[in-house]
Amino acid sequence: MTRIEVRGLTKRYGHDTAVDDLSFTVEAGQVTGFLGPNGAGKSTTMKMVLGLAAPTSGSVTIGGRRYRDLPVPLTEVGALLDAGAVHPGRRACDHLLALAAGAGLPRRRVGEVLARTGLEPVARRRAGEFSLGMRQRLGIAGALLGDPRVLMFDEPVNGLDPEGIRWIRGLMRSLAAEGRAVLVSSHLMNEMAQTADHLVVIGRGRLIADTSVTEFLNGRGEGAVLVRAEDPAAFALRLTAAGAVVREGTGSAVVVSGLTAEEIGRLAACHGAVLSELTPQRPSLEDAFMELTGDSVEFQGVSA
Ligand code: ADP
Repeated sequence: MTRIEVRGLTKRYGHDTAVDDLSFTVEAGQVTGFLGPNGAGKSTTMKMVLGLAAPTSGSVTIGGRRYRDLPVPLTEVGALLDAGAVHPGRRACDHLLALAAGAGLPRRRVGEVLARTGLEPVARRRAGEFSLGMRQRLGIAGALLGDPRVLMFDEPVNGLDPEGIRWIRGLMRSLAAEGRAVLVSSHLMNEMAQTADHLVVIGRGRLIADTSVTEFLNGRGEGAVLVRAEDPAAFALRLTAAGAVVREGTGSAVVVSGLTAEEIGRLAACHGAVLSELTPQRPSLEDAFMELTGDSVEFQGVSA
């Protein structure tokens, strides 16, 4: 099984440490979400996997070998780092044919990746005429050309419309289902929770969490419960008597903590209270992520 192994990886630019003693593994057969606020060091890490930046110390290997030791890298690892990297005057098919020829891959692969990325109808159009979503697909077609076992995508859904986002999510899932190791970066927790099986969270270049998505979601504990009762004041008294903390919600709703939704339902049944809503309120994933990375966010000036 081909995996990416990052061990003690560090990258310094002058006095700044972009990646700081980072270790994690990207396993085959799953989507690993690489999560962190902007400036956390995700792109720098991905560049080091691809040999585009040299580590100050530590190592990163793909299937046990460093990138520069891979005989035909495109057949081992495919990456989408910057979708704008195609010459605007080039036709999509010519761009892919040139890539294939450069790596000694058969021409038929071009047709195959055009089909997989839905670009067949626009294969003869120039990249400069492409929308962002189509440029992303072209970048992904290039990454898939060598049928690699390892794939990396840097913020692939940035700027895409809902249809484009849905397509990328589906593609990641299907690549992982084929047994490939998929690493995808994002600064959006919700996005990752919908796509990834595993999460590697970093902040200021350091590892903050390395966990399955299920564990991460379960670890956030019980949130509050939104309750709408026919007689809110009377039911609030019952709830407080049962040990809950009751706060006012919007309209006639109250927000209850200290009891589960099931316990509140039983309490209502026991006292013959009529409820029209009983909704567990999980703290949002975005909140959980902010809590986790709060200290590590770099404060950057707003450019004019
Ligand atoms: P992310 O992808 O998580 O947004 P990056 O890897 O792009 O983060 O950046 C991490 C840090 O490294 C940032 O502080 C960034 O300014 C710095 N950095 C990245 N590339 C360079 C470079 N070529 N020279 C100097 N600093 C860099």
